[in-house]
Amino acid sequence: MTAETATAEAGRDFIRDIVQADLASHKYNEIVTRFPPEPNGYLHIGHAKSIALNFGIAQEFAGHCNLRFDDTNPTKEEQEYIDAIQADVRWLGYQWAGQPLFASDYFDRLYEWAEGLIRAGLAYVDDQSQEEIRANRGTLTEPGKNSPFRDRSVAENLDLFRRMKAGEFPNGARVLRARIDMAAGNINLRDPVLYRILHAHHPRTGDKWSIYPSYDYAHGQSDAIEGITHSICTLEFEDHRPLYDWFIEKLPVPSRPHQYEFARLNLTYTVLSKRVLTQLVREGHVAGWDDPRMPTVAGLRRRGVPPAAIREFVRRIGVAKANSVVDVGMLEFCIREELNRTALRRMAVLRPLKVVIENYPEGQVEEIEAVNHPDDPSRGTRKLAFGRELYIERDDFMENPPKKFFRLSPGNEVRLRYAYFIKCTGVTKNAAGEITELRCTYDPATRGGNAPDGRKVKATMHWLPAAQSIAAEIRLYNQLFAKPSPDAANFAADLNPQSLEVLADARVEPAIAEANSPEPMQFERQGYFVRDPDSTADRVVFNRTIGLRDTFAKEVGKR
Ligand code: ATP
Ligand code: MG
Repeated sequence: MTAETATAEAGRDFIRDIVQADLASHKYNEIVTRFPPEPNGYLHIGHAKSIALNFGIAQEFAGHCNLRFDDTNPTKEEQEYIDAIQADVRWLGYQWAGQPLFASDYFDRLYEWAEGLIRAGLAYVDDQSQEEIRANRGTLTEPGKNSPFRDRSVAENLDLFRRMKAGEFPNGARVLRARIDMAAGNINLRDPVLYRILHAHHPRTGDKWSIYPSYDYAHGQSDAIEGITHSICTLEFEDHRPLYDWFIEKLPVPSRPHQYEFARLNLTYTVLSKRVLTQLVREGHVAGWDDPRMPTVAGLRRRGVPPAAIREFVRRIGVAKANSVVDVGMLEFCIREELNRTALRRMAVLRPLKVVIENYPEGQVEEIEAVNHPDDPSRGTRKLAFGRELYIERDDFMENPPKKFFRLSPGNEVRLRYAYFIKCTGVTKNAAGEITELRCTYDPATRGGNAPDGRKVKATMHWLPAAQSIAAEIRLYNQLFAKPSPDAANFAADLNPQSLEVLADARVEPAIAEANSPEPMQFERQGYFVRDPDSTADRVVFNRTIGLRDTFAKEVGKR
């Protein structure tokens, strides 16, 4: 990263301003940040904001960013999540410095420091139950009550703490608390818990520990051990900062990190809480963490959202100090912009209607050239077969059209993209009165899609040859939630019953099916689509990443 880019990126938000000032004043010579996920679920787009901020700042200011797993709660954490988080950070386009780090790597040191606090009279073992501790904590307006165990001797505290560590006591029997001030205005300073007893197997430390540190105790000290300069977290930790600073002040830590808070990302029609996302998966509301309707990084990837679109989205929303809700339309805008630039154009018919061109010779097939990207001739062309039997989109035809309907209807002429003008001459129906086939004629003089006599048509439609196209399943996704601000406490009631529509009989051009490409494509007039890993040798499956235009807002408005 050049100095020039560093200046260009500075001034973009208050955190970058602070970072730049700290470099200018030589408070630090190198900026060190970290992204600290708890491995208790998959990453979501809110985490992408934090990732882009932490890794982005390190990149822009020539520092480094650690990936540190905050693995202090072994009952909820799993190796699957540790692996998925690493894959997702890389996919987003970021790389951490060195190996991934773990708060559990510091358990020994954290323990030593806790004994140090006990010796200094700054921590004690409390035998009160969880309920008693909660009841005695006080409220925003009333001070808390001192624990009857608060004045234990150093020797007794050390003995009990060591026996907690040795596994002598059952879960919940005792905790280690900081000895600060039960009357502090900030509740986080009312003797917070540093260690709890938990007989649980840890993915990395196995059965070594029967006590585990709290987030508040582990986090800042891990930052200090790693030499983090700017510990960037979300606003809900603002009230924890005095405690963060208290530990840094009292403990013999090797460096003095500072915590900065920014507003977390909230998105309309979306819930960004790992608790809710876990429930969506466990209760089967979605097919898994990577269900394309999920706001997880894995879900967005499976849906076909390019990482560049996520990075651009995060850049546009910026970093602020006040919480707000971002319109999901902003994310969709960024996805469309990126895909419009990069996606190859292809043709697919989502809901096919058979067309027979009566004046086209039986058995004849010709090749029609189609461009791969209208704005980028270097991406070349491909050939489509045109013959007597074709498919068009079912809703591109109306037997009794209203006035403003310019697509195909009896007697009306339209253009088939890249091919010919056609006119509908008749309709075939089944016993139920449903249209099964259209009879049409084509004008051989309009090859390439223009009439030599200069006559115009008002519609250009996509199409596919019946024999030379391939059957496909296409999955259309809508917002997972039907409400702009779903209720996280009762999210099931706000789920959108129409979030998934499966089209089992779609047709796609051979170039789509054969490509076996993980890159999203534009299906002309329909949107952007990507091949789903559920595809097999016999059956291709596509996910709609996003439609060409924003139809959702209108649809919701109608309800
Ligand atoms: P939960 O969803 O239960 O609140 P979490 O998302 O905070 O959990 P962590 O693994 O602790 O889970 O998050 C890792 C980092 O990502 C933290 O620094 C956190 O502040 C940040 N983060 C989490 N959610 C968001 C969000 N919506 N917007 C921005 N940053 C976020
Ligand atoms: Mg968290």
